[in-house]
Amino acid sequence: MPISKVSRRQFLKLSAGTIGTIVVTDTAALGLDTADVKKNALGIPVKKGKEVPSVCPYCSVGCGQIVMVNDSGRIIDIQGNPDSPISEGTLCPKGAATYQLVMNEHRWTKVKYRAPGSDHWEDKPLDWAMDRIAQLVSETRDKNFNEFGEVPDGKGNTVKKRVMNTYAIASLGGATIDNEWNYAQQKLMHGLGVVYVENQARI
Ligand code: SF4
Repeated sequence: MPISKVSRRQFLKLSAGTIGTIVVTDTAALGLDTADVKKNALGIPVKKGKEVPSVCPYCSVGCGQIVMVNDSGRIIDIQGNPDSPISEGTLCPKGAATYQLVMNEHRWTKVKYRAPGSDHWEDKPLDWAMDRIAQLVSETRDKNFNEFGEVPDGKGNTVKKRVMNTYAIASLGGATIDNEWNYAQQKLMHGLGVVYVENQARI
């Protein structure tokens, strides 16, 4: 049946719907012939090297990857990991292009830093930036740490209690942060007494 002749009802019947996603269960019934695609895919040479399991860095789904590395330790290819219980060997187009993220002559390798009051950016090494962030976190926490605070007593009043927190630091996560990173991040932040923690989860 030509795809243009498939009604909305037929399409939904041939598909399994999940939240935000349509999984097509029978492509042939939709008039799609994937034989050529499968044949060509089998003909694409798979680069061989040392296989290093990794996780796609792009989003919180955390699809499994295998990074192929040659004898010099250089990445030669990145593929989906069939052993991953999350993605079972598949990668979306973005994840499948991860190789270009790593092996890219245009990739930024320096941190862009603009000093307070400055009107221009400076290139700084990553180690310098990590040390600066750690130093500022430590200084800010020490200056703004609350051992005690006023908290609601449940009867419309407040009561003084030991709170051990700071409102001067916030942690804002990115969409690339997966479950494991979020777990470690909130442990670190709560250990510092940070109250404002957001993880931008893609769920
Ligand atoms: S970007 Fe794509 S391949 Fe990477 S984790 Fe997200 S869904 Fe998986």
